[in-house]
Amino acid sequence: MGEFDLIRTFFTHPVRRAALGVGDDCALLAPTPGMQLAVSSDMLVEGRHFFADVAPLRLGHKALAVNLSDLAACGARPLAFTLALSLPRADAAWVAAFAEGLLALADAHDCELIGGDTTQGPLNICITVFGEVPAGQALLRSGARAGDDIYVSGSLGDARLALEALQGRLALPPETLAAARLRLEMPTPRVALGQALRGIASSALDLSDGLLGDLGHILAQSRVGACIDTRLTSPLLAAGLPNDAELVRQCTLAGGDDYELCFTAAPALRAQVAATALASDTPVTRIGSVQSQTGLRLLDAQGQEMLKRYASFDHFSV
Ligand code: ADP
Ligand code: MG
Repeated sequence: MGEFDLIRTFFTHPVRRAALGVGDDCALLAPTPGMQLAVSSDMLVEGRHFFADVAPLRLGHKALAVNLSDLAACGARPLAFTLALSLPRADAAWVAAFAEGLLALADAHDCELIGGDTTQGPLNICITVFGEVPAGQALLRSGARAGDDIYVSGSLGDARLALEALQGRLALPPETLAAARLRLEMPTPRVALGQALRGIASSALDLSDGLLGDLGHILAQSRVGACIDTRLTSPLLAAGLPNDAELVRQCTLAGGDDYELCFTAAPALRAQVAATALASDTPVTRIGSVQSQTGLRLLDAQGQEMLKRYASFDHFSV
C-alpha cells in the first residue's frame, strides 16, 4: 500500500463541520463568531510513550485521547484534529486497527479528522486538536485563589500501576492488571466535565506527568501554595497493592499518564461542582485547598504534614 492509498483508505472521511477536510493543501475551519480557537499538540513516540507491541486500536485511541484531554483542561469543545504519522512500513492491518480506535473516539466526541501528514520512519504519532471556547471563558492554570478547593476527577495512579507490572517490577492478579492496563492504554479524556466547569473552576489542567508536579504548574502560574490530603486511593491501586501503602502513594501522587483533570473552585461553589460531576457522569474528589503561602504541603492519614517529596515524570530528568 502506498502513502496515498493509506490516506485515502483509512484517513479520508466526509467532513460536516469543517469547511474543507483531507485532500487539499490545507484544511479549512470556519470559527464560530464569539468563540476562541483552542489548539494543542501531543506526540507519542514508540519506546517512550508506548510499547512497540501495544494493540494498534488502543494506540489510536490514546493518541487522540491525550489531545482531547488538553481541550478538556481548557473547557473547550472539540472540533477537529490533524494527524501526522510516521510509520516503519505500510502494514494495512495495523493501520486499519489504529484508525478504528482513533476514529471511534473522534466520532464519540464529534471531532473531525481534517488533515495530516504521512511518512515512513520510526513509529511516531503527532496529533494537533482544535477546539472552541466562548471568548474569555477558557479554564487556565493561572486562576487559582487562596481559599479555593482543589479537586481531581476519576482515579489516579492506575496507569502507573500497569506500567510497573508490565515492566516486571511487580506482579498483579490478572483482572487487576487488565483493568489497570486499560487505564494506561485507553485513557478517558474528561471532555464533558471540562466544558461543564466553565464559569465554576477558577483554574484547571490535565494530569499527564503526575498530580504533584502538574498541580505545581497551577500553583506556580497562580502564585499560590496548597495543602493536599494524601489519603486519596484508587480502588484498583488498593486491590493491586494491598500491602504497600508507600507505593500506592507514589502511584497516586506522581504516577503519570492519568489524563484526569485537576481543578480549583471557590468553596461557595461546592454544590455546583458536585452537580457538574453528576451531570457529566465523572466522579470528582476534593483533595485539598489553595493557600496563600507558596509551596505544596502533604498531609498523611493523621492530618500531619509529611516531609517526603515525590518527583513527577520529566522526560529529561533521568
Ligand atoms: P502535501 O503534499 O501538501 O504535504 P500530502 O501529500 O502530505 O500533502 O497530503 C495529502 C492530503 O492528505 C492533505 O490534505 C493532508 O492533510 C492529508 N493527509 C496526509 N496524511 C494524513 C493523515 N495521516 N491523516 C489525515 N490526513 C492526512
Ligand atoms: Mg505532506
